[in-house]
Amino acid sequence: MSALREPALPDGEFSTDPEVVAAHRLDRSGWLPEGTPAGVALARSVADVQAVLRHARATATPVVVRGAGTGLSGGAAATGGSIVLDLTRLNRITEISAEDQLAVAEPGVVTADLDRAAAAAGLRYAPDPASAAISTIGGNIATNAGGLRCAKYGVTRDSVLGLDVVLADGELISTGRRTVKGVAGYDLTSLFVGSEGTLGVIVSAVLKLRPRPAATATVAAYFDEVASAVRAVNDVVAAGLQPAVAELLDAATLAAIEEAEAAAGAGTGTEAAAGGGPVGHKPSAAGAFVLVQTDGPAAVAEAEQVFHLLARHATSVSAADTEAEAERLLAVRRRALPALERRGRVLIEDVAVPRSRLAEAVTEVQAISRRFAVPVFTMAHAADGNLHPIIVAEHGRELDEDVWAAADAIFGMALRLGGTLTGEHGVGVLKRRWLVDELGERNLALQRQLRSVFDPAGILNPGKAV
Ligand SMILES: Cc1cc2nc3c(=O)[nH]c(=O)nc-3n(C[C@H](O)[C@H](O)[C@H](O)COP(=O)(O)OP(=O)(O)OC[C@H]3O[C@@H](n4cnc5c(N)ncnc54)[C@H](O)[C@@H]3O)c2cc1C
Repeated sequence: MSALREPALPDGEFSTDPEVVAAHRLDRSGWLPEGTPAGVALARSVADVQAVLRHARATATPVVVRGAGTGLSGGAAATGGSIVLDLTRLNRITEISAEDQLAVAEPGVVTADLDRAAAAAGLRYAPDPASAAISTIGGNIATNAGGLRCAKYGVTRDSVLGLDVVLADGELISTGRRTVKGVAGYDLTSLFVGSEGTLGVIVSAVLKLRPRPAATATVAAYFDEVASAVRAVNDVVAAGLQPAVAELLDAATLAAIEEAEAAAGAGTGTEAAAGGGPVGHKPSAAGAFVLVQTDGPAAVAEAEQVFHLLARHATSVSAADTEAEAERLLAVRRRALPALERRGRVLIEDVAVPRSRLAEAVTEVQAISRRFAVPVFTMAHAADGNLHPIIVAEHGRELDEDVWAAADAIFGMALRLGGTLTGEHGVGVLKRRWLVDELGERNLALQRQLRSVFDPAGILNPGKAV
């Protein structure tokens, strides 16, 4: 690309260095886009973002906005000829207000860094995608990221009060508010949340902070079968308890964790083999594992109630009395993905169903795995019905027809049970062909019309999301 055809960035730089371009081509979905991007704009200011969009509009060049590239649906994967607009250098936290319980942050701020800054003021940024240490606030907003604490604290949208957005024509607008309430006009803030880089570029966000919980308590249990585990979590919810975290792992995932730990030679007992867990239980024999965390002033009392409710259905339950014990129980969940990744290429699905259908969904996923002879391992955010069936193409196997047939069956199952294709990862490219099944023709057509109002020239992330 000649200098004349490059955007002139007042503060940043534009790179066509093949190494820089290669480092910005993919996200974590495993999707391989065709072609090579034209270059990478490393924005350092709002003026840089505006310069890129004005240039893109004038030259009809597609723009792929990028945070940390940890997305799992192909949203930030760069299509051939596009400009990748990297926002990771726009990474200042410009305000933390303890009085108004809010933060103002640029999009490239790493999620965990924002939470750390909030902690210094006794506050917490509640959304906690498992990628918090590596993903950015801009990416979280653009995907409406979820995480472990959603059942109690909501998803990213519930923490976004206002946004500064550069539109496709380069103009900067502000949406939303800094107040607790505010209903002026249509809720454009919510529209930009989850828009996957298709409606505008988020360059600053006003984010809700909450008081940091005074205490946290952790309980974990093993069950003979998934249905009992789900029943137990439903009992917890029905008792009016609101756990901050309720994670479920199925039998296949437990076995994979145990196998990975054994291969790593970590310890000899079954406790060590599974990376921790309720005492006296052999994880590989269990049908499901559930981890529940309560938080707030009543955390310990609530955890006691949770313990008794889980015990009605479980084969073993244990409560963590110390932070080290809580960490040992949490490690079971944390080790699941690495244990699967060592088996081959993973395709992480993200369907959600009404909580009442969760047991059915997990059981159906297991049947789909058998039907297509494709290994599928399920982890779920049990209190909000969001399942991650993880399809593993074991070493030497491609993402072949059977893998996609299994994915198709999983999406069909989620919709049939009254659920959705994606609870938190977004549509990106990977789920685009199923979107009409969920939205219907008219709804999808309206969404495309809406998109063209914001981006009539179609330069923002073409071929993605809607
Ligand atoms: C190990 C691991 C664990 C994960 N756990 C979770 C989880 O628990 N919950 C969850 O929801 N997700 C999870 N994810 C997925 C991913 O981390 C999230 O989707 C995250 O929000 C993406 O942030 P990012 O900064 O990497 O964005 P990117 O991947 O760079 O971009 C994602 C999308 O947002 C758009 N975008 C990025 N920044 C902007 C901006 N400033 N303005 C407009 N559009 C923008 C991009 O164009 C793209 O469409 C996980 C991923 C990994 C690898």
